[in-house]
Amino acid sequence: MASTDTSTLPLPGLPARRARDRDLAVRAAVAQGLVGPGAPVAGLLDVTGIRASAAALRAAFDAVAAPGNEILHAFAVKATPLVPVLRLLHQAGLGAEVASPGELALARAAGVPPARTVLDSPAKTGAELREALALGIAVNADNPQELARLDTLVASAPTRSPLGLRVNPQTGAGSIDATSTATATSKFGVALRDEGARRWVVRAYLDRPWLTRLHTHSGSQGVPLELLAEGVHAAYELAEEINGLAGRRQIDTLDIGGGLPVNFGSDEDTPDHAGYAKLLAERVPGLFDGRYGLVTEFGRSLLAKHGTTLARVEYAKESGGRPIAVTHAGVQVATRTVYLPEAWPLRIAAYDAQGRPAKGPEVAQDIAGPACFAGDLLARNRALPLLAAGDHVAALDTGAYGFAHHYAYNSLARPGIYGFTAEPGGEVRFATVREPQTAEEIVAESGGALRGTLLDL
Ligand SMILES: *Cc1c(COP(=O)(O)O)cnc(C)c1O
Repeated sequence: MASTDTSTLPLPGLPARRARDRDLAVRAAVAQGLVGPGAPVAGLLDVTGIRASAAALRAAFDAVAAPGNEILHAFAVKATPLVPVLRLLHQAGLGAEVASPGELALARAAGVPPARTVLDSPAKTGAELREALALGIAVNADNPQELARLDTLVASAPTRSPLGLRVNPQTGAGSIDATSTATATSKFGVALRDEGARRWVVRAYLDRPWLTRLHTHSGSQGVPLELLAEGVHAAYELAEEINGLAGRRQIDTLDIGGGLPVNFGSDEDTPDHAGYAKLLAERVPGLFDGRYGLVTEFGRSLLAKHGTTLARVEYAKESGGRPIAVTHAGVQVATRTVYLPEAWPLRIAAYDAQGRPAKGPEVAQDIAGPACFAGDLLARNRALPLLAAGDHVAALDTGAYGFAHHYAYNSLARPGIYGFTAEPGGEVRFATVREPQTAEEIVAESGGALRGTLLDL
């Protein structure tokens, strides 16, 4: 089995490599006890895959951009808010897009420099804005009131922060409402097609020579590429108009957001960053001719396919004729899938007690989680080899907005997260990204030290 011939190995970004390494990692995680009776669920991150996606993103935009065009790929921290992951991406040449004091703290802990950090959020406080400007972090104002706060801050102290405004092109929704940010009534940005809004935005720039960026992000999963490109086109046209009226290149950088959808149906990366960059180059050629610096903010498309949630089957039962595998992966690690199963279906892979791919005829069964409500199901009526107690299930493509987004229902512990690489010969190496949460930590976070506080009221 072991082989030292690397000439025929699949490339790091290829689906076959990913699936093979995932199986190797599951087997090793079970063998090494990362998942077992004492640790019934864990997150696994494919480090080779993350590196490959970061490199592919950079190559995709470099391929269509004029030589020397400045491009910052700021990873949307909310997709995978884990310091070692941000550090890995920083080393791979990416920056960070943050949207809260916590996310900013994570990016700083990872060593992402202010000059490679972008702050977006619809509810930045005065203190957050002041800190960002003191650090020199790029800020995109969401609305006129926030812009007025920036006016005060800019007048009170010099800043190196590039400053911009977020606009909502109102180009419409994708297939999932909750992740569509360019609807007519979206809470994000200045709604460009509202009565008088465009004129107001143009004036806002002409009155503020320091406003040098323009930001848009049309949404995430479920928004078709054409619609994303339409939003970027609208922002580009607006920048051209403003620069024309200003008589100079006042807006020097366009922040085009993220939102590339992920294929949750197979190991293929379809669509991919290269296809999206090509589409943008066709629809908005001026974006890449070197006159504008670019910022991108991809999250899901960089990380989703590199994460696997691995859980033990605690019990296998039957109810009303339906086989049910009761596992330790449910709403606490796959919140969106459990609450909105139609919008967020996940692939499930079945493994035996040793962590080898399960064999045997497929049987329709429910894959249940550990939480105490009936809807806590990862998959319903899913055809898989019949699972037994002690077997394992893996929820695939959960590297973004998945196991890193713990939901504390039933005080279920945050699972450990482990990065892995697999050698050509099959040897797997792990590094801990996040320790599993202990019961003591849960007590401490739940007011353990304040036990008697309500008795004295
Ligand atoms: C969530 C978000 C992103 C990332 O979206 P993905 O779908 O994960 O690529 C980028 N920019 C902003 C402003 C966001 O809110």
